[in-house]
Amino acid sequence: MENFLEVVDLKCKGCYRCVSSCPVKAIKIENNKAKIVEDLCISCGNCYRECPHDAIVVRSDLGQVREYIRLNYNVVASLDPFIFSDLSGMNKGQFVTALKQLGFYKVEDMSMASKAVKEFYKGSVNKNGNPPKKKLLMSTYCNCANQMIKKYHEDIVPYLMPSESPMVIHAKYIKEKYGMDTKVIHIGPCISRKVEALEPQNRDYIDKVLTFSQLLSWVYSSIDNISSLDESELDNAVHTEGCVFLDSPCTGSPIGEMTKVDILGIQECDNFINAVYSGEIENVFANVRTCVGGCAGGPDYKTKRGIVTREQKVREYAKEGRFDGKSKELDSIYSNMQIENPLKKIDVPIKKATEDEIKNALAKMGKVTKELELDCGACGYKTCREKAIAICKGMSEPKNCRIYMHDMLNRLSNSIFDISPNYIVIVGEDFKIIDVNDAMQNIMGEPKEKLIGTYIGNYMDIRDFVEVSYSKQDILGKKVRWENYGKDLMENILYVEEKNALVAIMNDNTKDESQKRMIQEMKLRTIDISQNLIEKQMRVAQEIASLLGESTAETKIILTSLKELAIKEKEYY
Ligand code: SF4
Ligand code: SF4
Ligand code: SF4
Repeated sequence: MENFLEVVDLKCKGCYRCVSSCPVKAIKIENNKAKIVEDLCISCGNCYRECPHDAIVVRSDLGQVREYIRLNYNVVASLDPFIFSDLSGMNKGQFVTALKQLGFYKVEDMSMASKAVKEFYKGSVNKNGNPPKKKLLMSTYCNCANQMIKKYHEDIVPYLMPSESPMVIHAKYIKEKYGMDTKVIHIGPCISRKVEALEPQNRDYIDKVLTFSQLLSWVYSSIDNISSLDESELDNAVHTEGCVFLDSPCTGSPIGEMTKVDILGIQECDNFINAVYSGEIENVFANVRTCVGGCAGGPDYKTKRGIVTREQKVREYAKEGRFDGKSKELDSIYSNMQIENPLKKIDVPIKKATEDEIKNALAKMGKVTKELELDCGACGYKTCREKAIAICKGMSEPKNCRIYMHDMLNRLSNSIFDISPNYIVIVGEDFKIIDVNDAMQNIMGEPKEKLIGTYIGNYMDIRDFVEVSYSKQDILGKKVRWENYGKDLMENILYVEEKNALVAIMNDNTKDESQKRMIQEMKLRTIDISQNLIEKQMRVAQEIASLLGESTAETKIILTSLKELAIKEKEYY
């Protein structure tokens, strides 16, 4: 199976909602991101509908369809009649014109093929004898229901009608009518048909599958003034009964004698299958579809709103059908097509877990007694045991158990709280102690039990606590000194709104602060010594200077005397 759904990692929050919505648990959470295991998936689209972050997207084949048109292929739209139940503001005729403007060669609905399949149902039971030998027959219109049974309930496969789906029959019919090189684009509310189209036997007939929303967004983004478009007719004759497949009983065949029940939605399918296993089902023809409300609630609609209105609208559209019984076209489809296709089980790689393995997995989640199995569903599995089985199959991990993680984090934070070297105290709005860690009780000199409930002001200055309590503004990184404990601290007081409490975390800075003080004192001492030295040197310099001054004066006197003596000597001679 090729990717028909993709998880956008950037958007995925690892919230487990898709896991819990997946009926066959085909989703793993790895590194906090969802991953669809396609071999296990039955293409119900629940995960796509349920993801609250739009992280799961349906693959779009729009690019290839446009390319077929650009390359001048005859591109034929094969419409599920449900599209006419909600055209977002266009009428049917304008919609057909819009598709032609986009480049579709022909636009047909598949009602005639649905009717042909219904006729095949009737005939195939006749072949098996009248009345039918089987106690149960199940429709195979819904590929998702088929996949669920083929992959997970092989004992029920023999009850499936051995038939192609209307989508496949219509595609075969189009290829026969317009040529094998025609490109058939099925357009429906169903994402499971994208998977069906990719099955090897169908690839030659269905070229691409678009959902209604993919097609309508193309129409609205490409064509202006849709409301002023002329109206065109479909290129086929609409068959009333085929628009609402299996709505009416299969009269005229042994199936008509069976009790017809509509099984709509995964949960109903599940209940029904369990009833089949229990042997209580007798003489039933089941019209099985996995969407709540059938195709009117197909995954492309995303929400379940509007199911009734869509159902009403498709019935109104069905009334416009030109045929209600047999027709030439129907005869041609019915007689020339290979409608029969016995469905076979699909092997899925499911590992069976032994009781010991399950026990081990439970133990890894800390569920060592039955009471610890809370079955809270937060991990996406209904019960702890289901989750343990998923762990054994490699589909989940113990750490995905929210309770286990919560307990582990609690234990971790408790031990961090207890062994932290910081002084931590939690006080209530009445400034009474709620909790203290080991370091705090040691410095306060009282056991924790005695401290809890006592007024914090008995032990320390509470002005900062009062300030945070009234201002609701945290104090972070404030230097304080606890004189009575001889401690220098970096104070952080946080206001915890949800608990109406204050958490004080005091980092002990005493060592740093006393070192700083020591360095400061050393600096001061050094400055003193330097000052003394400078002063001393100044004094010496002054003394030297004065001595130098004296001797210079004496020299000057001697030299002056010598000079005078020399002058006198000259005058004398
Ligand atoms: S629902 Fe699934 S895909 Fe969506 S965000 Fe949550 S884990 Fe991710
Ligand atoms: S499409 Fe359905 S079966 Fe497949 S992963 Fe999603 S929820 Fe599960
Ligand atoms: S009920 Fe219809 S839309 Fe839903 S999965 Fe089945 S065929 Fe598709």
